Amino acid sequence: MVKSFEVARSMILDNVSPLQSESVELLHLVGRVLAEEIVAPWDMPCWDNSEMDGFAVRVADCQSFSPLQVDGYIPAGASGAGISVQPGTVVRIMTGAPIPTGCDAIVPIENTETAGDVITIKQAVQIGDYIRARGSDIAAGEIMIPAGTVLRPAEINLLASFSRLEVPVFCRPQVAILSTGDELVAPGETPAAGQIIDSNSWSLAAAVRELGATPVLLGIARDSKESLAEKINQGLKADVLITSAGVSTGDRDLVREVLEEVGVKRLFWKVAIKPGGPTAFGLKGNMPIFSLPGNPVSSMIGFEELVRPSLLKMMGHSEVLRILTKATLKSALCNRTGKTRFLRVRVEKTREGLLAESAGDQNTGILSTMIKANAIAILSAEQTRLLAGEQVDVQLLNSTDC
Ligand code: AMP
Ligand code: MG
Repeated sequence: MVKSFEVARSMILDNVSPLQSESVELLHLVGRVLAEEIVAPWDMPCWDNSEMDGFAVRVADCQSFSPLQVDGYIPAGASGAGISVQPGTVVRIMTGAPIPTGCDAIVPIENTETAGDVITIKQAVQIGDYIRARGSDIAAGEIMIPAGTVLRPAEINLLASFSRLEVPVFCRPQVAILSTGDELVAPGETPAAGQIIDSNSWSLAAAVRELGATPVLLGIARDSKESLAEKINQGLKADVLITSAGVSTGDRDLVREVLEEVGVKRLFWKVAIKPGGPTAFGLKGNMPIFSLPGNPVSSMIGFEELVRPSLLKMMGHSEVLRILTKATLKSALCNRTGKTRFLRVRVEKTREGLLAESAGDQNTGILSTMIKANAIAILSAEQTRLLAGEQVDVQLLNSTDC
């Protein structure tokens, strides 16, 4: 039974789960997904400290704006032990330094006039001014980073602040990639008449790496049961297996049959999408196996729409789908397939919002349109024609686009 795009994607996502966790050091944490919540082991800041370079004062002494004697100095890094603000005096203090006893406000240096060891305060002072209170940022025992957080430089700063040198994050899958076909030769080899170079292994490996997962290149299997079984069995040692080609209805399309023979339970074959229709998905135990069509454009779009979200889920991400945004069409787009149609488009940012137009010939055999595209427009089966000026759903492809 042909599955709709949404059903196929949900079936895949329902059948994959986050991998186990591993402990990873600070330097390698960016982009990883936290597997356990992190609780603050102590207050931050650890002690009351100055928010500004200036003077530690007694507010009661500041009301008359009369000159005050500077008596004492606490630079950053000093403990401040034994230093207190005596009545009628102030203590010079630097940002981050501990608040001395007796002090109930900090006056920034720019709010004072200095003459030798005497200062005059130019503005009214309130109790608590420019004092960062202990625990005011994060209190001991608070969940400071919830499980499932994608770690960014900000979280890594926090972990370092609490001396967390390593934390548990979800593992990233080993993704075995297998190209199949009698016509294929590896890049670098000279193709004989009728042969073509295996490029899918490389685009799929790149897409896997872009997510931070690890590609395992199995090379090329021939269109024979023996060759396919040997390579597929190797691939079953990884966490995920992706094959390309040999999954359609040709007489040499043996991938589905061999997967069945090695014990892969098929959940579906064929999705009502174009490109990427003859995709199959199965499980061997918990291991997901994706069989993508051989056409390079179809395999890339199949990866993008069906494989990518599941790899993200395995890596612990909860946001696994690309954001769908609206773009205004510069020219019409058609979908006469009766299926969900993925069109390679070029999206441009303007002051009026995003504008989109076809990136070129949409034939699935045309790779150059993929190169010109920076987004995929998604048209439902019902959206047979969208006119210039109408809105279309687009997924921006480049990770730096927003
Ligand atoms: P198939 O799905 O086996 O019918 O293949 C569909 C088309 O994709 C054919 O033109 C193949 O030559 C091409 N193709 C299959 N595998 C690859 C590959 N690994 N790299 C580039 N093109 C491929
Ligand atoms: Mg083939």
